Amino acid sequence: MLHNSARAIDMSLHLHSQTDPRRHEQDGPLIISGGEGVYVRDDAGNRYIEGMAGLWTASLGFNDQRLAAAAAAQFAKLANYHTFNHRSNEPCIDLIEQLAAVSPIPGCRIFLANSGSEANDSMVKLAWYYQAARGKPEKRRIISRNGAFHGSTVMGAVLSGLPHMHRSFGMNTDDILFAGKPHFYREARDGESEEAFADRLIAELEAMILAAGPETVAAMIAEPVMGAGGVIVPPTGYFPKLRALLDKYDILLLADEVVCGFGRTGNWFGSQTFDFKPDMFSVAKGLSSGYLPIAAVVVSDKTYQSIADEGHRNGVFGHGFTYSGHPVASAVAAEALRIYHEIDVVGRARTLGAQMLGALRNALADHPMVGEIRGVGLLAGVELVADRRTKQGFPTEARVGAQVERACRQRGIILRNMGDVLALCPPYIIEPDQIDELVRALFLAIEDTRESLSL
Ligand code: PMP
Repeated sequence: MLHNSARAIDMSLHLHSQTDPRRHEQDGPLIISGGEGVYVRDDAGNRYIEGMAGLWTASLGFNDQRLAAAAAAQFAKLANYHTFNHRSNEPCIDLIEQLAAVSPIPGCRIFLANSGSEANDSMVKLAWYYQAARGKPEKRRIISRNGAFHGSTVMGAVLSGLPHMHRSFGMNTDDILFAGKPHFYREARDGESEEAFADRLIAELEAMILAAGPETVAAMIAEPVMGAGGVIVPPTGYFPKLRALLDKYDILLLADEVVCGFGRTGNWFGSQTFDFKPDMFSVAKGLSSGYLPIAAVVVSDKTYQSIADEGHRNGVFGHGFTYSGHPVASAVAAEALRIYHEIDVVGRARTLGAQMLGALRNALADHPMVGEIRGVGLLAGVELVADRRTKQGFPTEARVGAQVERACRQRGIILRNMGDVLALCPPYIIEPDQIDELVRALFLAIEDTRESLSL
């Protein structure tokens, strides 16, 4: 165990991401000191199954030795170089070749960045550049959706349809439109079928586009499955209809595959699972199994051609990051993609995901505190409710989801609660018996919470 001063230092010096600062000053950190496969260990020696792969990141668990070796070898060979002004490096080329090979956009081009937020910012800038190149600079507006999460940079946060990402920041959201959240359980009307719900969402979106003026709308951004918004799996038929609508009004579709990419939904990309073709998509997290910061935007040839013409006219494409195509991050990501093929992440997500969803339903479908169990591939969410019949949630201040999350840790698993939704997104290397253990511990943690709430 780290001596107490380490906790004290963290409590007094660290402004944590997505954390209540005052609570942190009181409660202190959970210090994670080691990882082995799907397990992580804290500084007191407690071991947990990491049921969220960190932040939807560590697809290959927490200490893959091939990734460690790829990083070490590249560090020793060339630890830094950039990709400005025609420069490239071999790991970066290896990575983009492999990414293009699995991309559902044929003839794509790839831009490299370092985080999901940067990749999404880049997609928006590319969309604006594209529209300017076509002589349509008035196409500025970006459509996002309630419940979306697209990152924490100014643009990533502005695009996020989650109140806590906006509150007190005073950001300008004038150019952003928010469409409805495609959550059948919560948003569908009484008696509405899934298909009718999807049709209504699309009709409402069309009305929004017409009210704004289609000539002012550049692009729409969407996660195939909303992650941080509560693992929201879209209703049947939603994305193909969305794509057709956007085509009708000459609006680009930008897919945020930061969570869904690399097998998570049971195909290489979420756009394949939900049957649509984006004009661009962003990836991060799983790209390197989260081992180093790296992200990419994959751009269709049609979009690229206009961007390239515009960049040529301007003398340079005026965008890019110091660490775009970083050789060590690229080497790790390229190795991760090789491993994904070798262990068949898509097949594993399908079979293990079916097992996980089945186990969740067996354990929790009739539980009085569980309103909905949803998921696709190796990704699931469990929504807690106070009343199953009315779907009434718990009062926010009761922090029931946070209580379950804490009880999970006491039961030896780590999950993440987004409000009263518990998310499951384990590494692909998880074994069937570990899935059973994970689900059993979640069930017991919910029971612990039920007892403590005297329900
Ligand atoms: N998009 C989605 C769908 C995400 O889940 C996240 C991160 N949770 C981001 C973008 C932002 O990624 P990053 O934190 O790497 O900037």
